[in-house]
Amino acid sequence: MKDVRTRFAPSPTGFMHVGNLRTALYEYLIAKSFNGKFVLRIEDTDQERLVEGAVQVIYDTLKQVGIFHDEGPDVGGDFGPYIQSKRKNLYLPYAQELVKSGKAYYCFCSKERLDSMHKGEHVFEGYDRHCRDLSQEEVDKQLAAGTPYVIRQKMPMTGFTTFTDVVYGEITIENTELEDQILIKSDGYPTYNFANVVDDHLMGITHVVRGCEYLTSTPKYNLLYEAYGWKLPTYVHLPMIMGKNEDGSVSKLSKRHGSTGFVDLVNEGYLPEAIVNYIALLGWCPKDNREIFTLSELAEYFSVDGISKSPAVFDYDKLTWMNGEYLRAMTLDGFTQLAMPSYKKVFPDQDLDWGVLSSILQPRVTKLNQIADMIHFFKELPEYSTELFINKKSKTNTTNSVTMLEAAIPVLESLDYWTTESIHDALLALPEKLEVKNGTLLWPVRIAAAGMTVTPGGAIEILTILGKAEAIKRLNMGLKKLKDENKE
Ligand code: GLU
Repeated sequence: MKDVRTRFAPSPTGFMHVGNLRTALYEYLIAKSFNGKFVLRIEDTDQERLVEGAVQVIYDTLKQVGIFHDEGPDVGGDFGPYIQSKRKNLYLPYAQELVKSGKAYYCFCSKERLDSMHKGEHVFEGYDRHCRDLSQEEVDKQLAAGTPYVIRQKMPMTGFTTFTDVVYGEITIENTELEDQILIKSDGYPTYNFANVVDDHLMGITHVVRGCEYLTSTPKYNLLYEAYGWKLPTYVHLPMIMGKNEDGSVSKLSKRHGSTGFVDLVNEGYLPEAIVNYIALLGWCPKDNREIFTLSELAEYFSVDGISKSPAVFDYDKLTWMNGEYLRAMTLDGFTQLAMPSYKKVFPDQDLDWGVLSSILQPRVTKLNQIADMIHFFKELPEYSTELFINKKSKTNTTNSVTMLEAAIPVLESLDYWTTESIHDALLALPEKLEVKNGTLLWPVRIAAAGMTVTPGGAIEILTILGKAEAIKRLNMGLKKLKDENKE
């Protein structure tokens, strides 16, 4: 087989939708699985839709997830320029060649005429082919007069076009359904549809990978390839990405299902490597149903025949689970580094024992943005009710909690070193003396220290992180709260 070349051809919209990222990923993986080249091409011929900084978003996203392109606007290559607006003058001669061979034509229809076609009784979906059969004389006259024009593709009026897609199999479309689409716009720029085909050919692209919304346009592209006598690429169309609705049904993934952009997901606390791993499984399944893959493992395992045509459902719970797996697989230091922005958000000018804090958070956190809320009680003791001291399993109530705190406070106060070990040893010597279970002592200590029943970590870790002064202060406050209430 010819050297495999794939391309990611985003239009710079300023936003990397998970669907686009999946396309980029699959193009990259297909290229890698064949030892081929992965090309980045920016499709910016729609000048009205240009968004400032959008190309940078594409570079940044690819870099952040570790998808490196072999050729592209920023890294160069033999087939540049890789930005379509920089190739602007290259397309018109190709369109003119088609006009000459009778496969395309000049269209001088005014905007008013085109708009009027979509109004009134005769609502018409596509162009009515008004200029398709203008005489050569008329065309020359209009061109000489400088009338603005577009160039349209002349679709066959009979028969059908068939092609094979690797994922969807054989697809046939009746030619009458194909509109005489515009190839060159009145501003001289090619349409996406035209530039895409010309560039795929000129850049030697062997595999075209994209969302299945392009399936019905593919016959139009194929007619262009045919008209030029170019070899068709291998088509790999990817299944739709759906979102779960509240009533259990599914519909095309959109913002109401949750974040759909890469940056938004990262801001929500998902790790780029977990996002990529999860996205890889949206439409592709390895033979052994394995789920956790690094990008380089994906490159090794990925194969086109594992791509399914049934719609993939974006399951945020599953992504969250996977993210948790990634967080837990990190070293403690790695986790602390990632968590530090959240730590510093809650404690901008204070240093806690970050290592101990991370050790209680790492097993529990599934998204980084949970951290700030989870640790806020260290900064500020929440308002709480003495009812929290009552716990059946630990056999505690508001009376014996007083005894427990009264026993715990002095031994903690006497500690010279405030470490997890010293606190552990001091506290766990008490239950035997008091003839109670460990839980009976630790429950009230944790409630007084945290002011809540569900905490990351147990009493000992929480006391360690609070530091001696704050810990003792909170235990005394809890004790007072209980005593005041027991008096009433
Ligand atoms: N520029 C198109 C897009 O952003 C590319 C489609 C294709 O890959 O052919 O959707």
